[in-house]
Amino acid sequence: MIKTIVSEELPVGEKFEIKKNIIAGQPAAGKRLCVVTGTHGDELEGQYVCFELARRLNENLSALIGSVEIYPALNPLGLDSLTRGFPTFDLDMNRIFPGEINGHLIENTAHKIIEDLAGAAAVIDVHSSNIFLAEVMQVRINIAAAAALVPFAQMLNTDFIWVHEANTVLRSTLAHSLNSIGTKTLVVEMGIGMRITLDYGNRLVDGLFNLLAALGMWTGARPREISTPLLSTGGEVAYINADTSGVIIPAVEHSRRVRAGDELCRIVSPFEGKVLQNVRAPVDGFLFTLRTFPLVYEGSLIARIYHEGQCAAGGERAIKN
Ligand SMILES: [Zn+2]
Repeated sequence: MIKTIVSEELPVGEKFEIKKNIIAGQPAAGKRLCVVTGTHGDELEGQYVCFELARRLNENLSALIGSVEIYPALNPLGLDSLTRGFPTFDLDMNRIFPGEINGHLIENTAHKIIEDLAGAAAVIDVHSSNIFLAEVMQVRINIAAAAALVPFAQMLNTDFIWVHEANTVLRSTLAHSLNSIGTKTLVVEMGIGMRITLDYGNRLVDGLFNLLAALGMWTGARPREISTPLLSTGGEVAYINADTSGVIIPAVEHSRRVRAGDELCRIVSPFEGKVLQNVRAPVDGFLFTLRTFPLVYEGSLIARIYHEGQCAAGGERAIKN
């Protein structure tokens, strides 16, 4: 059942609407799992997740208890125009939560989104990277919410769980706003902007069925294999930035372990045939972010490596990748 949660007239003829698909099990009453995406209009990985989740649920609806609610587009104008923010206002939709009931269109929209999602058993907010960086499939968690969220994150079949330090918490995000009112919300980040990575999408849908089963909402078959993600506790993340502008020639793929001194890429000058910088890993660790866009500017992020202070458990699948 499609339900409209926001409907507003736009100045000339168009309508701004946010909709969700409620897939109801038997009984429909009870827990809700909400999958939201499309907050950033240039991130498309979640579109496949929504499709495949709905398709698989509809194949075996009698195994669902409670309901799964799918929100493919929290920023529909952005998605339809492939714009990261909310078009016209040049506003990041994920920096205006929890919104305001009497605010302007976007603040009011944020308020209604929170109102609609509040009370769900879990909310999964699916993001992609931008077009420049490839991200390993990961859950990002604010350290203040880690105790409550890590057990849920470990069910989602990802490679990595990045627990952020408190000083990097963005208070105006959907996830922070929902977690602060007790609705468990996990941010999944994966793949590349404007692309769909089928393997990640299929793995996340398996993870969602695994979570549904753990919540007592799914009596059908559980996925055969759920990966054990590397959990970032006790270590630190190294950021590697370009020292110079140029063209990147990659030397490694992401989602793998690297050793200090390994070459990640070369930045070259096409004019002179010169190597301008050999970009090397500063530490041993797990390469979970890697620039794949071939042009780079001085200061651009090239990679992020998780360096284990103390060796965390897991990561087997990550090593194989
Ligand atoms: Zn995003």
